[in-house]
Amino acid sequence: MVSRKTVSRMSRYRRLLQSLRESGVESIYSHQLARHAVVSAAQVRRDLMVIGYSGSPNKGYDVGACIDSIGHFLDGTARQEVALVGVGNLGHAVLSHFADKSPSVAIVAAFDVDPELTDTLIHGVRCVDVSLMADLVRDLGIEIAVLTVPGEAAQDAADKLVSAGVKSIISFAPTPLALPNEIFVEYMDITAALESAAYFARLGGREEPAGNGDGDIEPMVKKLESLLARSNMKLEDLATNIGARMVTAGKPGGTTVAKVYAGDRVSDLLNEASDKTLLVSNLASVQMLRVAELMDVPGICFVNGVEPDGEMIQLAEDNDTLLMVSPLGVFETCGLIYQALDTEHA
Ligand code: NAD
Repeated sequence: MVSRKTVSRMSRYRRLLQSLRESGVESIYSHQLARHAVVSAAQVRRDLMVIGYSGSPNKGYDVGACIDSIGHFLDGTARQEVALVGVGNLGHAVLSHFADKSPSVAIVAAFDVDPELTDTLIHGVRCVDVSLMADLVRDLGIEIAVLTVPGEAAQDAADKLVSAGVKSIISFAPTPLALPNEIFVEYMDITAALESAAYFARLGGREEPAGNGDGDIEPMVKKLESLLARSNMKLEDLATNIGARMVTAGKPGGTTVAKVYAGDRVSDLLNEASDKTLLVSNLASVQMLRVAELMDVPGICFVNGVEPDGEMIQLAEDNDTLLMVSPLGVFETCGLIYQALDTEHA
């Protein structure tokens, strides 16, 4: 099982890739797809790795093959059928948008209370009186529903859908639904999105960094995030400040990081690594360097005086990964990093 965020990014990648293919693009690098999808290149690589698709270092991802791989991941073998409840303004828009769109997921029935709408075809979908909904949904084996009814009708419609066998609901209604835990519910809330956009527009368009100076009562980790978010300290200066020896120089011109992650399990490092992360680890292995390469990690600090071997140094030089070696353990090294950042803002 992967998270709903991953699934939603896959869907976004596929739409972007399809539109790129329509404009004649045949191959794409992870950083290019990342720019379109507004995520990091490491995120794109990690997501596509989850579905077992990898590009070639020289040509990037083959757009067609990548679309197919995402399709195998997202789409089942059989077409999945969807019911829509409430064929008003929004319901019409959703039906019109999805008419003949996706062969793997299709809206096959719509339901409303309005006699003017029932027994009519709307964008190719028959609208049926809602009193027949439970039976029809059960008979057709529909497991997905879209709710575009007024808020006050949403819970009742959702209950009827679930008892008829629906397992996933996308609700546009503004009211929260009380449903069994095993039912997947996705709320689409344009009002919240607009209010967030308006709020951040007033602040100049940027989210505030986490932990904005509440001083002593702020948990340490939040304070470290806040220090990192404001830090201009280059990794090589950080190395000097914590008494670590630089082994390789890293990116030309130096680089700053927004996160420090200490750990020894490759799976954890894979989850935490990004192009803004300094990894702190005991694990001086080629595997570690491969993680760094895959995730564009700018720097690794080995602790306990663990020295990287020649092969690792070569890989780090090839990928502009800065390597440093701290003579101290993980805990002391992280403490010194914290202190160095804290002093920078004192
Ligand atoms: P609308 O009034 O145009 O349409 C609602 C439809 O639901 C009507 O056709 C009505 O006859 C039908 N209906 C009412 N009770 C029903 C029931 N018990 N069973 C089946 N159908 C029923 O409203 P709209 O503008 O299309 O908005 C629909 C819903 O979406 C509302 O809850 C609204 O608040 C919400 N909305 C959400 C967003 C968003 O981005 N999330 C944006 C706009 C509207």
